[in-house]
Amino acid sequence: MILSNIIAGPCSADTKENLFNTVNELYNIGIRIIRVGIWKPRTKPNMFEGIGEIGLVWIKELKEKYTDLKFAIEIATPEQLNLAIKYNIDIFWIGARTTTDPFAVSNLASAIFNLPKKDKKDKTLLIKNPVCPDIDLWEGAYLRLKDCGIKNIGFIYRGFKTYKSIKYRNEPIWKIPVQLKLKYPELIMYCDPSHIAGDKIYVEEIMKEAKLYGINHFIIESHINPECALSDINQQLTPMKLNEILNDINSFNEENQNKEKLLIYRKDIDEIDNEIINLLAKRMEVSKNIGKYKKENNIEIFQPERLKALINKLKSVGKELNLTPEFIENIWMEIHDESVRNQN
Ligand code: PEP
Ligand code: MN
Repeated sequence: MILSNIIAGPCSADTKENLFNTVNELYNIGIRIIRVGIWKPRTKPNMFEGIGEIGLVWIKELKEKYTDLKFAIEIATPEQLNLAIKYNIDIFWIGARTTTDPFAVSNLASAIFNLPKKDKKDKTLLIKNPVCPDIDLWEGAYLRLKDCGIKNIGFIYRGFKTYKSIKYRNEPIWKIPVQLKLKYPELIMYCDPSHIAGDKIYVEEIMKEAKLYGINHFIIESHINPECALSDINQQLTPMKLNEILNDINSFNEENQNKEKLLIYRKDIDEIDNEIINLLAKRMEVSKNIGKYKKENNIEIFQPERLKALINKLKSVGKELNLTPEFIENIWMEIHDESVRNQN
């Protein structure tokens, strides 16, 4: 079966042998678009920064061998764009770090704009989200690129860098790609589960989650021998493992699909409830301390005047926020009762 909604391939090309073997196996499982990193934007210097132009020579050879294969590479500068054109690469993507920089995006947009029409006729351009969760920066990159002369433009969602401690490498804040998808429904939204996950064991669950949000196109890192890869060792799948996951995903229950708005509202509610419950617990802790203080200083625990003043103040704040006085009174009487029980 040909998998037209999947792009797969190594994070970076390393040796010709690895690249050819990876592509051969991916071809056999039905992949027809191969991703290959040629220049790698590394966070710190002195790491593997990509194989460079020789990788494009290998791709040229692969394109002669498999004439129905398309290749996708990351470009970040006009020089890289020109080389990609020279070697007839089909799909370019703009990486997360590049999308973060409006100058870099504008430079690329002008370079593409200035290409002869014939050179960009059948090309596709995919824009990864920026490193930080800023939907405007992501949309801004699209707005800068949309008139560059390449008609097929799409997005790639790869999650966001975060300081929170989470199990993934990048935080998937689904409402951001969903908002962009709702605003530009004609553009394809790919999900890159590999860079969200950071570990191959989470790739499948992220794909399932993406599908719940109506995202059905994926760009996935795959390497014939991930342990020997020169970048992103942990998150690359062998083509065989990728095939297993794709089969699983195919039979995945899709009844929740395209309810992305509802899912996002529910996620928001879950987050808010979580905040409320944590604040309530915090409030009770403070209340216990007050109880102790009152006991030590022989102060009456229940103070009707204080309660009256508190509820009146909250009612007037609530009014400004469109919360009815009855609602405020009911909730805070409950909270107050629990506080008194705690103080006792
Ligand atoms: C990549 O695709 O290998 C890559 C560097 O991704 P990102 O730009 O999402 O970090
Ligand atoms: Mn990578």
